[in-house]
Amino acid sequence: MDVSNCKFATKAVHGGQSPDEKTGALIAPLFLNSTYVWTPEKMERYLAGDKEGIFTYGRSRNPTQNDLQTKIAALEGAEAALSTASGMAAISLALLSVVHPGDHVIANKTVYGGTYALMTKIFEEMKIEVTFVDDMLPETLDKAKQPNTKVVYSETVSNPTLRVADLTKLADWAKRNGVLSFIDSTFTSPYLVRPLEYGIDVVVHSTTKYINGHGDIIGGVIVSNAKFIENIRSSIYQELGSCPSPFACWLQLRGLKTLHLRMRQHCENAMALAKWLEQQPCVESVIYPGLEHHPDHALAEKQFGGRGFGGMVCITVKGGIPGAQKVIDHMHMARYCVSLGDLDTLIEHPATQTHGKIAREERYKMGVEDGLIRISVGIEDIDDIIADFDHAFKQLDK
Ligand code: PLP
Repeated sequence: MDVSNCKFATKAVHGGQSPDEKTGALIAPLFLNSTYVWTPEKMERYLAGDKEGIFTYGRSRNPTQNDLQTKIAALEGAEAALSTASGMAAISLALLSVVHPGDHVIANKTVYGGTYALMTKIFEEMKIEVTFVDDMLPETLDKAKQPNTKVVYSETVSNPTLRVADLTKLADWAKRNGVLSFIDSTFTSPYLVRPLEYGIDVVVHSTTKYINGHGDIIGGVIVSNAKFIENIRSSIYQELGSCPSPFACWLQLRGLKTLHLRMRQHCENAMALAKWLEQQPCVESVIYPGLEHHPDHALAEKQFGGRGFGGMVCITVKGGIPGAQKVIDHMHMARYCVSLGDLDTLIEHPATQTHGKIAREERYKMGVEDGLIRISVGIEDIDDIIADFDHAFKQLDK
């Protein structure tokens, strides 16, 4: 079924899916194959360059992976997608396919820790220079630009300050300056925003998060035009061997069928929780793009099309690190874990986890205060999520 003219929910359910020709099974079977039998006819077609539907070896293509890529491309409104073993594999492959020794990248200083490590440690060894900037506004990018700038890189929503990138401004600046624009859309998923529609060149996701949504795989995806994707798939992707497991692809196909329902609930619960948290005396501040005082509230409303503001909420509790830890230790339902976008509510403490190695003064400049708790709001009943925080907050007074 061609879903290109269908609405998002229909694409989520039907995209990349057609009944198995051999058995009629509604859900496509899981292909775990490593290799595929050649026939003289297949070889002839292959050598003539007609590779459509031809599978040779699992590190190059897999039918289950193809189905997943078709579904994600449909959801992102893209020509093509390439599924990878992890979000970091997607980010590193996409970047390394276009930046080479002597090139320069501009990136937001709040990028995910793994991306920051790639851009500092590994890029430094490869003589790829990176300038980290405070924001992605055109005047800031003008100052950072160099003659060898190849890529400008940001995230749709920054972590943990939850600032929202203005995709129109970013894409326009990149086009004016002959630079490729990359965006990590992990925090938003295509349900909230489809960056290619704004003129962004390349989208990456950790599909470990909202795209799969069930906390049972590690995965990533690169989304762009067909030429960009095929260039990666036929070269660096195969050589670095970052292909996903077919089972992880199959689980993601299943997870994506409910993306719209899950995201709706994440957004609804996050909004209700953020409003309740604002009323709590032990909470010094609440960061959520859905709250009117958030600096990017209007932008988020416009860019996310009124569908919601995401499932991530950050709070700073009184009492610094011991205060935050006391709250975390007394949560019964929300789990103390890294990662996000699962059905379950997850909490983490950036000052001692993701940002634990950064000096306190530097960390504060990044908006990561001692008492900051990051909440990935799950899809449980909102009354139970609130009751869980209420119970933990009461322990602060004891
Ligand atoms: N991008 C963002 C925004 C993330 O939060 C993460 C992981 O937390 C990644 C990329 C890396 O993804 P993965 O862990 O799937 O490699």
